[in-house]
Amino acid sequence: MLKKTWFLAILVCILGTGIFFNIPIEKRKYGLSQTNLTTDYTGLLPEKIDRVVTADNSAALQQIVKQANVEGQHISIAGLQHSQGGHTYYKNGIVLDMKTFNEVLEVNVQEKTVRVESGATWEDVQEAIQEYGLALKVTQSQSIFTVGGSLSINAHGRDIRFGPMAGTVKAMTLLTPNGDIQTLTHEQNKEQLANVLGGYGLFGVILDVTLELTENDLYAIQTEALKTTEYETYFNHVLDDPTIAMHYARVSVAPGSFLQEMYAINYLETGKQDTETPLKGEQGMRLSKLALDLGRQGGPLEDLFWTTQKRYIHSLDGETITRNNVMRSESTFMEFKKPGKVEVLQEFFVPVDAYADYMKDLGKLLSAKDKNEDFKVHNITVRYVEKDDVTTLNYAREDMLGLVILIQHGLNKKDIENAQNIIQQWTDLTLAHAGTYYLPYYRYQTTEQFQKSYPNWKTFKQDKLAEDPNEVFVNLFYDNYLSEEAAYEQ
Ligand SMILES: Cc1cc2nc3c(=O)[nH]c(=O)nc-3n(C[C@H](O)[C@H](O)[C@H](O)COP(=O)(O)OP(=O)(O)OC[C@H]3O[C@@H](n4cnc5c(N)ncnc54)[C@H](O)[C@@H]3O)c2cc1C
Repeated sequence: MLKKTWFLAILVCILGTGIFFNIPIEKRKYGLSQTNLTTDYTGLLPEKIDRVVTADNSAALQQIVKQANVEGQHISIAGLQHSQGGHTYYKNGIVLDMKTFNEVLEVNVQEKTVRVESGATWEDVQEAIQEYGLALKVTQSQSIFTVGGSLSINAHGRDIRFGPMAGTVKAMTLLTPNGDIQTLTHEQNKEQLANVLGGYGLFGVILDVTLELTENDLYAIQTEALKTTEYETYFNHVLDDPTIAMHYARVSVAPGSFLQEMYAINYLETGKQDTETPLKGEQGMRLSKLALDLGRQGGPLEDLFWTTQKRYIHSLDGETITRNNVMRSESTFMEFKKPGKVEVLQEFFVPVDAYADYMKDLGKLLSAKDKNEDFKVHNITVRYVEKDDVTTLNYAREDMLGLVILIQHGLNKKDIENAQNIIQQWTDLTLAHAGTYYLPYYRYQTTEQFQKSYPNWKTFKQDKLAEDPNEVFVNLFYDNYLSEEAAYEQ
């Protein structure tokens, strides 16, 4: 009998291990193609383009831009194409593929700056600066994006002290829409930089950029579970506490605690720096994927996922981590490949002091029990974004909290319309709380919602036409929100 139990236990272990190591870590196919249709991260907007030009030197790029002005061609710019609304290509247009334009040109340890070509990823930059004990001031929580793509959407992440990413740019080399190469600084070219940063590749090609750096400090992780109603007050304490350098939070989307519970993660200064710990790679991919896939099932399994996440986060309390490693979280486990379904991101921003009321109203709009529904919310992360006086299309006109939302929905017409309808209501709710929505993602919103969210759109458009009268730099995002046709939609 004992032998039989052991045999069964070993069999279960072997089977379990086999299943675990066969959890597929998918790599979806998307991207630039001359023979097939071009898409970006979600694949929602397939389009035929004319050609892809691999960027390897600025003189060749300059020639292409000059020629496009004469011959009436259109150009779009692509980094790693994680934007989701056709920002990187245009019907029958030329696409500049910046990925190979990726050299880290100089690390200036005294000045704490790095000069880097725009196709480099944050990972490339981190690898170059880590040995000098330096770290980026502002970037996403993952390091998989290009520098040019991130500056062109003015990205944000876990840092709460250094303001918008655009403000960390010391100087930039830009290939302008008429084919000139210019050096820009905030002091001398304020208006021009305001359009290029967060400018979605519509004001020219960022060739290289000099970024301000800070020290690769060692942080102690502090975690806290709280009620959503407590978060606004809690967060104001976080902001007032100068020892907290970075912060983010997560909101429950599990049916049992839907939008009611949160946990917060703070990164506290230890006063130490760490030159020993290497940059971390992707860890625990299969386990994270398994957990996320459980959450994706909805119902009791989503409750289990939330409880497990809380336990995991709590287990990190007191651990230490370097600044560079906070800025390079795992991403592969998020990949999602299910026929007929898509997973998209959306992000809404509300003023910090509107958060509690906003979440209460959001609870009335969204369904807590979405297990059997097509439109499913899988994850909500909360970030802080400080008031941005640097960019024209700024999403933070005051200090805001951003809700980054992972959503799954079907791909047939009815499902897309349903998702669009819910997201448009969500956008109206956000606007009613003096909020905005983020532009790098799929354009479910109407042109009217865009114009309300970005009241400076007119200045942006006028400046665009002044700088680029031939509309050489365009993309599907521009076409949708800012073209003449979009204006007539009003
Ligand atoms: C899983 C995931 C997580 C994310 N997390 C965050 C986050 O934490 N915070 C956040 O703010 N965003 C986040 N994003 C959004 C992400 O930062 C943007 O999609 C960003 O654009 C990614 O960089 P990229 O290299 O993929 O740029 P792309 O998508 O290739 O390009 C983005 C824009 O930049 C323009 N562009 C690219 N290179 C240049 C250049 N050299 N010169 C001029 N214009 C250029 C393009 O034309 C396009 O308009 C996330 C996206 C995903 C998919």
